[in-house]
This record gives sequence, C-alpha cells and structure tokens, in this order.
Amino acid sequence: TQAQIGVTGLAVMGRNLARNLARNGFSVALHNRTPARTRSLVEEHGDEGVFVPTESVADFVAALERPRRIVIMVKAGGPTDAVIEELIPLLDEGDIVIDCGNAHFADTRRREAQLREHGLHFVGAGVSGGEEGALLGPSIMPGGSKESYQTLGPMFEKIAAQVDGVPCCVHVGPDGAGHFVKMVHNGIEYADMQLIAEAYHLLRDGLGVSPKELAEIFAEWNSGDLESFLIEITAEVLGHVDAATGNAFVDVIVDQAEQKGTGRWTVQTALDLGVPVTGIAEATFARALSAHPEQRVAAQKALPGPGSVPRADRDTFVDDVRKALYASKVVAYAQGYDQMAAASEEYGWDIDLGAMATIWRGGCIIRARFLDRIKEAYEHERPESLLVAPYFRDAVAEGQEAWRRVVVHAAQAGIPTPAFSSSLAYYDGLRTDRLPASLIQGLRDFFGAHTYKRVDKEGTFHTLWSDDRREVEA
Ligand code: NDP
Repeated sequence: TQAQIGVTGLAVMGRNLARNLARNGFSVALHNRTPARTRSLVEEHGDEGVFVPTESVADFVAALERPRRIVIMVKAGGPTDAVIEELIPLLDEGDIVIDCGNAHFADTRRREAQLREHGLHFVGAGVSGGEEGALLGPSIMPGGSKESYQTLGPMFEKIAAQVDGVPCCVHVGPDGAGHFVKMVHNGIEYADMQLIAEAYHLLRDGLGVSPKELAEIFAEWNSGDLESFLIEITAEVLGHVDAATGNAFVDVIVDQAEQKGTGRWTVQTALDLGVPVTGIAEATFARALSAHPEQRVAAQKALPGPGSVPRADRDTFVDDVRKALYASKVVAYAQGYDQMAAASEEYGWDIDLGAMATIWRGGCIIRARFLDRIKEAYEHERPESLLVAPYFRDAVAEGQEAWRRVVVHAAQAGIPTPAFSSSLAYYDGLRTDRLPASLIQGLRDFFGAHTYKRVDKEGTFHTLWSDDRREVEA
C-alpha cells in the first residue's frame, strides 16, 4: 500500500506533525536526511498509526500515492531549497510539495513559480503552535493554488486545532500568502509579549508588586477581555520559583531577549509596504536594545533618571495598566491586519482577514478570546482600521484615559514603555484632525523642490523659495 502523505525532515516539528497525521488515520511515509531519526520515530511511536519509513529520497517518493503530497519540515532557508532540488526530478505533474517550515514569503513566491514551471504545486504553509501544536493540533496557514487545497485541505483541517468545531486552518491565498500571514502572526506575537513585559515592568518597578502577587494579577486578568494563552503563561512564569536559589524564576533569567527573525521580517516588509506597524517594530527594537549589554552598562553609569517619582494608587494603577495593555494590544492587531490587507492588495492574494482571526483562535501562541471580536469586525464590510470597528472603538475609547495616565506615569518614573507609548501615539496620530505632515511637506519643498498639494484647490505646487517665493504649479 502507498502512503497518503509524506513528511521529510523529522526533527521536533516534522516528527510531531507526522505523528499527528498518523493519529488522525492518514498513512504517512517518513524520510529524514539522517535515517536514525526516521528509525527512532518508528521505534518509539510506530503503534500510533500507519508509518512507511524510507531511507532514500527515491524510496520516499515511490512510497506515495498520486498525486503525491510531500511535507517538507527542514531547517528554513538553504536546506529547504536543497530538499526541493532533490525532489523535483523524482516528481510527476500535479504532485504537491508543501513547505511547513518558517520560510520568508518571498522565498515561497520564488519556489512556487519554480515548481509551477515543472507542473508541480508548491504550498507554503505557516504552522504555528510549536512542538505541542504540531502534535496535538496546530494553526495551519496554507498558501498555494486553490487546486492544491482541494486535496490537501481536508487532511490539514483534520489535524489542525479545532475551536467550537471549526478547524484552525483555511486556504489563505495564492503563492506566499500563507507564509506572509504566519510572519505577521509572529510579529503580533512579538508585540503581544512586549506589551505584557511592559505591564509587568510598570507594576513591578512602578508599584513594587512582587512576582508572586503579579502572577495573581495576571491570572485574574486572564478571566476578562485579556484572556489569552500568553497572559495565562505569564501568570505561570511569574509564579514559578527557581529551585536552585529559591528566588523568583523571572529574577534569575538574564534580561537579554533573543530573536529568530520573524519579527524583523515583519518590520522590514511593513517598511516596504509603507504600513506603520509601530507596536511590532518597538517590540523588535526592544529585544535588540536588551541584547546590547555593553551599551546598557555604559548608560547605567552615565545617564540620570528622574529625581522624584509621583506615587500611584495601587488599585487604580493596576486597573489602568490592564486597560492600557488591552488598548495597546488592539493597536498592535490593527496594525498587523493593515499589513496583511496591504500585502493582499499588493500581491493580489484576496485574503479573508476575518478568517485569519478564526484560524488563530486555537493551536497558536497568540490564541485569545478577543480574536472572535476581530472575526466579527470583518464579517460585514471591511473597517478602515480595526480601531474603528464598533467593539474595538468602544474598547479603546473606554480605556484611553487610563492609557494616557499609564504612559505619563511611565515617563515620570523613567520606566521604558516603547510599545505602550508608541501605540498611544499611533492612536492619537490616526485621530488627529491636522497632522504636522503639512510642515514636513513645506520643508521638503523648500530644500528639494519636492512639491506639495493645497487644502483649497486641486493640483501640485512648488514655491520658488530661493527666488521671489512665488507659487508655481508643478
Ligand atoms: P530544525 O529547524 O532544527 O531543522 C532540523 C531538520 O532539518 C532535521 O530534520 C535535519 O535533518 C533537516 N535538515 C537540515 N539541513 C538539511 C539539508 N541540507 N538537507 C536535508 N535536511 C536537512 O527543525 P525543527 O523541527 O525545529 O523545525 C523545522 C521547521 O519548522 C523549521 O523551518 C522551523 O523554522 C519551523 N518551525 C519550527 C517551530 C518550532 O517551534 N521549532 C514552530 C514552527 C515552525 P538531519 O536530521 O539530517 O540533520
């Protein structure tokens, strides 16, 4: 018998995805560059379903029913191209190659075009939820052709996380759309985590609340609008005590955040598309700042902080921080959604934005109660911004005074809150009647004859600054 689907690349992710497929009744051909991984999977989990282990790429391809479905789960970048090159000559027209790694969407677009020339389907599928998600049900964001989704979709929908009976998997759009959406998902994850970290910092250093009490505060927040996986595990991490020292676990961790690059990709792409994703950008830069210890030590010695810090009332401040966190989070999502909308337009992907919220409700790191609200916001006509959709407009309007108090207090206390502050600036930027961009345009015209438009008539104009300052039509 031939296997219904194959998985090549059996490190943590591929191994768990293959097991998930087998547990759901699909027969799975297995392959890994180093055969030991294939053997250990079969030895340890062979009883979970039907596995067809193979040791050469040719045997792997031959073990699959047609059209073949081949999942690649190897290290992203060069290794993915190496595996694709090996596969191409062995495949037949109509076969589907699926890259479930964390590829850059531009690479996915390139690979899709390359395989299309060979009559093959290439599906870049974002897979979220880490190791556990891959095994128990991830959120899956497949791109590629509609045709490929017809055979692939039912399998992926079966192994994906299910929320209220709805699978966390939908065809996102052609070529790189799936990996693009996965990238923005990771960018939003950066922003979400930074906002949580700032809330922690404000309460810890601004109010002197202990990690143990903070764990209780976050656990309580998790029963309201903020309910989400990340808030839930924040309570867990803050409540954890280091076994070796008896200190709060959070106090024994080096305060330098690392990153694998998807936040950076999100920001780079947003810059190219001209979409302000200030929350994600500040989150990415905050990690970068934390990771420069020499500069930080020099600055700690050289730069003074505020003299006296006003005292905040504990209960009011805790509640203010909760509201500021929620409002800033809404901004981060609004910005990420704008980025997906812009890319969808740019690349002709026709992404259903509401459906993205639906498939992020389970299986992934940013799963949260309020994703249902995002889905609702896109159900009828598309709002100009998530911020003006009725539910979110009311939420930020209700929280904005608290948000301002928190940002003011942070500045007075010298506690850095780049994501809280920039989100509020974004909110105010959007709602401001006349922005100082008019002055920017005036300056650009002065030094570079870049021209400007007028509020009172059509056309493009330039002032002869170094002459008699007459205005001419450009
Ligand atoms: P790794 O990213 O650590 O990759 C290891 C796998 O890649 C091994 O199977 C390895 O084979 C294979 N490999 C490396 N180089 C080559 C090559 N030149 N040719 C063939 N195979 C090669 O594994 P993970 O399971 O952590 O991740 C797999 C993919 O999933 C990555 O793209 C990752 O970004 C993505 N991902 C990971 C998540 C996570 O939580 N870890 C979450 C979501 C996506 P060998 O055994 O022979 O060395």
